[in-house]
Amino acid sequence: MSADHHHDNELDPFAARVRALETILTRKGLIDPAAIDAIVETYETKVGPRNGAQVVAKAWTDAAFADWLKRDATAAIASLGYTGRQGEHMQAVFNTPDTHNLVVCTLCSCYPWSVLGLPPVWYKAPPYRARAVIDPRGVLAEFGLELPARQGIRVWDSTAELRYLVVPLRPEGTEGLDEAGLAALVTRDSMIGTGLPRLPA
Ligand code: FE
Repeated sequence: MSADHHHDNELDPFAARVRALETILTRKGLIDPAAIDAIVETYETKVGPRNGAQVVAKAWTDAAFADWLKRDATAAIASLGYTGRQGEHMQAVFNTPDTHNLVVCTLCSCYPWSVLGLPPVWYKAPPYRARAVIDPRGVLAEFGLELPARQGIRVWDSTAELRYLVVPLRPEGTEGLDEAGLAALVTRDSMIGTGLPRLPA
């Protein structure tokens, strides 16, 4: 056997199972691999945290939109064209100087795909799901996020019925930025609550 001989059994068990299922379904003519690729491509490149960043940037610059987002996030977000699977029922939770919001799905991996794309691996991992509710401050510290002691942490447990989008506080020193400039500061993690927006250069 040559040194570069390559086996599929290097896949992790989950990936191997997915590949086996895709192969069987394709052979039976039940799915079209090109269609699967198109869906994955959509969620990897077109639907992603840039969408959520646009929502946050608009909320930072448009008080009427921010108010709408607070009252009816599903409709306010849909008005920007971000709709679809796993985004049917949204709630926006706004950070304040007194309260930092953190989102988790303790049961599985519910996540607002329409505004954040596919969830990061750690979001789906049992340690995050279990510990975010028990020791949110400790979990945030592991993400490198040390909040002021006076800022409380509110944890939101996502469900299949309701997904949350964190609206972080607008960073100081961003008065001169337009919506596009602001959106570039909004990270995925800042909309989950495990991070803060970037600071302006
Ligand atoms: Fe879930």
